[in-house]
Amino acid sequence: MDTLYLVIPCYNEEEVLPETSKQLLNKIMNLIENKKISDKSRIVFVNDGSKDRTWELISALHEKNSIFQGIKLSRNKGHQNALLAGLMTVKDYCDMTISLDADLQDDIDAIDEMVEKYYEGCDVVYGVRNARDADTFFKKFTAEGYYKVMKHMGADIVFNHADYRLMSRKALDGLKSFKEVNMFLRGVVPMIGYKSDKVYYARKERMAGESKYPLKKMLAFAWEGITSLSIRPIRFITAIGAFLFIVSIAMLVYSLVRHLLGYTIVGWTSLIVSIWAIGGLQLLAIGIVGEYIGKVYMEAKERPKYIIEKYLSDEEDSKLLSEKKITENHEKKA
Ligand code: UDP
Ligand code: MG
Repeated sequence: MDTLYLVIPCYNEEEVLPETSKQLLNKIMNLIENKKISDKSRIVFVNDGSKDRTWELISALHEKNSIFQGIKLSRNKGHQNALLAGLMTVKDYCDMTISLDADLQDDIDAIDEMVEKYYEGCDVVYGVRNARDADTFFKKFTAEGYYKVMKHMGADIVFNHADYRLMSRKALDGLKSFKEVNMFLRGVVPMIGYKSDKVYYARKERMAGESKYPLKKMLAFAWEGITSLSIRPIRFITAIGAFLFIVSIAMLVYSLVRHLLGYTIVGWTSLIVSIWAIGGLQLLAIGIVGEYIGKVYMEAKERPKYIIEKYLSDEEDSKLLSEKKITENHEKKA
């Protein structure tokens, strides 16, 4: 029997944590009793610099029952980094991980099927939403539109799959070798390869509290996703530039001919319009190219994606972790 670790990033989730922990505990005990997973399996909450009592709740859960573990990040680093921190920390203690949101919008009953697929030999199992009845029209529209735009921009992502997925230790080791600072998991995981499959489930409503992804954050996330995965926007600009250049040569020929034939052009309007249009396009183009240069700059710095302040784990595990840290430090010094 293999060991499963559930990894749950939490940002200001004090309202949902009591219920979430109860349901997950039920689920995992059930799996253990049915001999689907080993009794070393754990539920790991990653506190992403919450401003409320989330960490106190996680610590209390760990005190009461060591099946619950907690990882405390030094500050808020965003959902993706929190998730990555969790996965990379538990990677060496388990055979598979399943990542899911703290609000349990993603049906936890899909976990059984994911584990099943794992035993069938899959290293990655994607949770895919097949219904969005609980989402508002706006959320559904923006979210599905987003997947389509991503596809067009050349990012190979799984339609309607968020971050609810099973990953084996092997897949996580693969993930570790992706060194990018702008880590966009949904786009990077398919790049790892290995055998994968999908599990379908219906997405539910948030149990309590509100979405930590308001429109502004969602747009930023979409933009990050596109620019960290593909260079198609830059190619697009090059294409527009080439097209405009051809048009301008045609215009030149046209106006020369008109001039030689002796017609005078009044055209102030067309002139001013084209100045604005081209000026705007140029600024946009420089902006997009700048975005990529900014990305290169950030990547070149190799800043850490997260810093772990504390890991509430089984005693054995924390010993292992500190030993690992010591060897890492030695490696750095050497
Ligand atoms: N989250 C996080 N850090 C953040 C924002 C969100 O760890 O900066 C977590 C949050 O606690 C939740 C998950 O990411 O477990 C998804 O967030 P949410 O449910 O608010 O997003 P939505 O379902 O509305 O897209
Ligand atoms: Mg949610």
